[in-house]
Amino acid sequence: MSGDLRDGRIVIVGASLAGLRAAETLRDKGFTGSLTVVGDEPYPPYDRPPLSKQVLLGKARADTTELPTRRAPDADWRLGVRATGLDPLGKRVMLADGEPLPFDRLLITTGTRARPWANPEEAALDGVFTLRTRDDAGGLADRLDAGPERVLVIGAGFTGSEIASACRERGIEVTVAERGPAPLVGALGGTLGKLAAAMQRNHGVDLRCGVTVTALHGDGNGRFTGADLSDGSRVDADVCVVALGAVRNVEWLEDSGLAAGPRGIACDAGCRAFTMYGIVTDDVFVAGDVSRFPHPLFGYQMLALEHWGNAVEQAEVAAHNMVSPGPLRRPHLAVPVFWSSQFGLNIKSVG
Ligand SMILES: Cc1cc2nc3c(=O)[nH]c(=O)nc-3n(C[C@H](O)[C@H](O)[C@H](O)COP(=O)(O)OP(=O)(O)OC[C@H]3O[C@@H](n4cnc5c(N)ncnc54)[C@H](O)[C@@H]3O)c2cc1C
Repeated sequence: MSGDLRDGRIVIVGASLAGLRAAETLRDKGFTGSLTVVGDEPYPPYDRPPLSKQVLLGKARADTTELPTRRAPDADWRLGVRATGLDPLGKRVMLADGEPLPFDRLLITTGTRARPWANPEEAALDGVFTLRTRDDAGGLADRLDAGPERVLVIGAGFTGSEIASACRERGIEVTVAERGPAPLVGALGGTLGKLAAAMQRNHGVDLRCGVTVTALHGDGNGRFTGADLSDGSRVDADVCVVALGAVRNVEWLEDSGLAAGPRGIACDAGCRAFTMYGIVTDDVFVAGDVSRFPHPLFGYQMLALEHWGNAVEQAEVAAHNMVSPGPLRRPHLAVPVFWSSQFGLNIKSVG
């Protein structure tokens, strides 16, 4: 990079919430060099929270959730192309179309994807969905429009619970199968979990806790027809949504030497990535759902947050630090915050 941090080449991999907000912040901070944003989805950055809420309720179409821009980031958008590797010595990102992309500073915002159903044949049945992308939401909304008899939701975390809520609001019968003792227990604990269970049942959800789904079944034409549960029961349904959490998009970094694994990419509080030896880099930064970072409020524990607000704030800190000299760099100290809307209730959590 040239002596001036406001010049040179910056590449961002991951063209979603964190990538967009970082690109805007870089320009706000006076970065005048070349800025390239690589994204494997074919669409400009869009917002995900509405996908499990307004889109499933039929109040918004999946292709209308584009993220508003705060300013034109004046970037070269490379959409629909996947980054396949990182050469940290040569300072290049490898792209699926074969072109190497040189950088002086790199920001990784590759987020997560939906954890797929473990059995690929069962996952491929017509009527079995996951929900992470705009295309997932559009496909699922179409199925709900078609008026299924019953929807089976596997997993009662936030996404699963919001899907169940949308189904009930549309008057569709829904069964939720959850391995834990109650919905949302992982995020909200036992007491609020019990409340969430009561809320779901009061809204007509057939909630089955303490069970796992052991097999998905299809008819002779490959259409999903129902599932077996570990308690020996069977649920007949025509749509199934697998809502079993997320997988970090880190495979492309396998040979990069970065501390990247199933729990995300480890970075310091200034968003600088660690190498696999725990040494901090100075030219590779990380932000958003794919990151793990130490938080002083929690005894410097490494946190991995899948929250909208974290992606925005961490992206802003990363962008600031990418163009600031050492003493002017800032830590990412924001208090974790998230929200969810389900069954007519807004749930907000801070801390
Ligand atoms: C249905 C749904 C509802 C949600 N609701 C809420 C909510 O109510 N409240 C809340 O706080 N949060 C919510 N979230 C979470 C929030 O949307 C995320 O925290 C946020 O999207 C994280 O942004 P990100 O940019 O870090 O990652 P992502 O949005 O995951 O974006 C990462 C991007 O990088 C791309 N990518 C991955 N690998 C590569 C590669 N190798 N090359 C190029 N591109 C790549 C991905 O395809 C993706 O476009 C919700 C998420 C979902 C899916």
